[in-house]
Amino acid sequence: MAEKLIDSFGRNIDYVRISVTDRCDFRCTYCMAEKMTFLPRQQIMSLEEIEQIARAFTELGVRRIRLTGGEPLVRRGILDSIANIGRLPNLIELTLTTNGSQLARYGEQLYRAGVSRLNISLDSLNTERFRRITRIGRLEQVLQGIDVANQQGFKQVKINTVVMAGINDDEVLNLLNFIRQRSMDISFIEEMPLGQIDDHERPLTYCSSDEVKSIIEQRYPLQQLWMKTAGPSRYFGMSDSNSRIGFISPHSHNFCASCNRVRVTVGGRLLLCLGHEHGVDLLPVLRLYPGDLEHLKQTIREAIPNKPERHYFDLSEPPTILRFMNATGG
Ligand code: SAM
Ligand code: SF4
Repeated sequence: MAEKLIDSFGRNIDYVRISVTDRCDFRCTYCMAEKMTFLPRQQIMSLEEIEQIARAFTELGVRRIRLTGGEPLVRRGILDSIANIGRLPNLIELTLTTNGSQLARYGEQLYRAGVSRLNISLDSLNTERFRRITRIGRLEQVLQGIDVANQQGFKQVKINTVVMAGINDDEVLNLLNFIRQRSMDISFIEEMPLGQIDDHERPLTYCSSDEVKSIIEQRYPLQQLWMKTAGPSRYFGMSDSNSRIGFISPHSHNFCASCNRVRVTVGGRLLLCLGHEHGVDLLPVLRLYPGDLEHLKQTIREAIPNKPERHYFDLSEPPTILRFMNATGG
């Protein structure tokens, strides 16, 4: 019988997010500090090591892998690794989260490499504001990337928007119209207190999913969709559109009971929960036993029972998780 990873709360871990780089061509204010230091080369997984991690997890019963970062598409050589991971026999879904900056160039290759769904981050449709939120990004480049992505045959192209009060909460309906016109989906995300940022005070810019939902409902009545997906979004539909609206609500609607995922950072640390440091370092195992999947698999098996029951985010306290989202892999 095929092996499964079951944690001590009976949750079947069949989904892994792998961060393929901590580097990025943007510096989003909610994700990073303005001045960042990135891991030195010898402390990050090589592409071969990333592929071994993916293979080990699929042999342990993982069926879905999401590649993320940092910005996955700035890692040199990543497209070949994506294609190799896409060919793993037990995988039913390979997905990617990207800021969209490189999609005009790589969108078609990603589709051919076996990526079935794309999440593209987009927090503003206003050029100046987009620049302010990303600190360096060019909106035009991302919009071109979205157009190219929509011309491929991806099963889903979804926009991810982190909504922040007083920063971009007035764009909820504009963003919704943007995705409706393109038959895309969107997830609105509550900002999480990961890493010490210097741009805004998270408690002051917190915008709950319920607030976003009520902005939308003044224009479009929403019906809850009871679809089962691998991610943490709760989905809603509109009667006059195929587009779906997801809410990722780590503060207001805790999704831990159904959590089926773990993460691997680019430094090779298996993180069992976004809101805790529980985990194990896989990099030494990869380097001590190169090419030996058994040691790697055994280390993963032994770690899974330590997956915490749930996260606790408290915006009234300074962040307890000091790693930034780009290091964690969103
Ligand atoms: N660079 C890619 C991107 O931006 O899509 C992939 C990595 S990014 C860390 C993955 C997702 O995490 C993005 O949708 C981003 O908006 C989200 N994110 C980053 N920092 C966050 C935070 N503090 N709270 C909530 N979401 C965050
Ligand atoms: Fe880069 Fe994505 Fe973080 Fe923005 S959210 S800084 S694009 S990793």
